[in-house]
Amino acid sequence: MVLEKLGDSLKNTLSKITKSMFVDDKLITELVKDIQRALLQSDTNVQLVLELTTKIKERAKEKNPPGITKREQLIKIVYEELTRFLGQETHELALGKKPTQILLVGLFGSGKTTTAGKLAKFYKKRGCKVAVMQTDTWRPAAYDQLEQLAAKVGVDFFGDKKQKNPVKIYTQFKEKLANYDLVIVDTAGRDALSEDLIAELNELNTSVKADARLLVISADIGQAAQKQAQAFHDTCQVTGVIVTKLEGTAKGGGALSACAVTGAPINFIGIGEKIDDLEVFHPQRFVSKLIGMGDLESLLEKAREVISEKDAEDLKDKFLKGQFNLVDLYEQMSSLKKMGSFQKIMEMIPGLGSLKMPKEMLEVQEGKLEKWKYILDSCTKKELENPDLITTERIDRIASGSGTSAKDVRELLKQFKQSKKMMKMFKGEQDMGKLMKRMGGKMPQGRGM
Ligand code: GDP
Ligand code: MG
Repeated sequence: MVLEKLGDSLKNTLSKITKSMFVDDKLITELVKDIQRALLQSDTNVQLVLELTTKIKERAKEKNPPGITKREQLIKIVYEELTRFLGQETHELALGKKPTQILLVGLFGSGKTTTAGKLAKFYKKRGCKVAVMQTDTWRPAAYDQLEQLAAKVGVDFFGDKKQKNPVKIYTQFKEKLANYDLVIVDTAGRDALSEDLIAELNELNTSVKADARLLVISADIGQAAQKQAQAFHDTCQVTGVIVTKLEGTAKGGGALSACAVTGAPINFIGIGEKIDDLEVFHPQRFVSKLIGMGDLESLLEKAREVISEKDAEDLKDKFLKGQFNLVDLYEQMSSLKKMGSFQKIMEMIPGLGSLKMPKEMLEVQEGKLEKWKYILDSCTKKELENPDLITTERIDRIASGSGTSAKDVRELLKQFKQSKKMMKMFKGEQDMGKLMKRMGGKMPQGRGM
């Protein structure tokens, strides 16, 4: 697949959004760093990457509209900004005029002649009567190359092996070209955009008056595409770009984004050496495919499924609150219950997903909640706030007052103590990795949470 590596890293990054419990600054910072890394590895210009990620960061602060969770919103923002980054709209060539003429320009080896054949096939399939013309008099093999491609595709070929002047080649066939819907004119390249190439192309174009002047550029030059596209844009008035060899390079992201900023839209992409390896460039579809449209949908779905932001925030506060009392414990248990299975919640807290909770512990707390509620109802406000005040005598009283046993009350108190211990660890050590190491990968013993 095209830009597989970039796609994979972006996919992984986006899936972090659904896996994390909170859409907070920490997640956004991490997300932005991931995107930066992925794009820089794709040889995208640093300045462009910074602009993109600043935009994502800014927009991440926007309030999420009703009906859309913060997670969904964040995924959408990343998707939209990446699309904008690559030029938002699709630029299809208008084929109204007869003949419509395309002039292909670019450096040596960028893929002009190959692309001339690909375009001929592309438009022939769409019902156009197509002709291709070779005006490259620099490379002796260019004539044969295009002639063979034309034969393969089944379109007419024009060229003159003996003529060295590209303009003369064109003008001698000019009348005949009126019979075609589309004429694709191939040109000579150079190692670099030289004065004589600029002069040659401009002179040729004065005769051809091409409807589209398309720069063919190889993706493997990465961000250097910007300078090249800009230079061709400024001197040869190119109307669009075709980025070739996108399937074979890790630098494609850089090339695509570089072209997008020059104001010359990307019309097509070349994705292989074969005649059919050409695609119209749809920025939106490209990004969807890159990060996996199916994946995007399921990401959004997952984002919708998980607990609401507010519940998560409340829970986090409770987890991190120092003044943790029996009421908190109860509320916490209730909210955990409301949010689904305890294990699922643990999985959503970064670093705790791999902790294996004792199975009995997970089951126990479900059934206990009701009893606890009665016990808590029988406690005084002071006792709720400071359970240490609860004496043995009070334990018996509370048990009889709530219709439970002293054993139940003791169990609740024990659970509270253990929870408090764990909360302290959460608070003191927000780095869950360290926390886990310290605990030796195990939860504190006992049946409480
Ligand atoms: P020109 O000098 O600009 O006319 O370039 P050519 O059309 O002769 O192509 C140069 C080389 O690039 C050839 O080996 C082509 O097969 C190859 N090429 C062109 N487009 C693509 C593409 O999209 N993918 C790959 N992998 N190779 C391509
Ligand atoms: Mg050529």
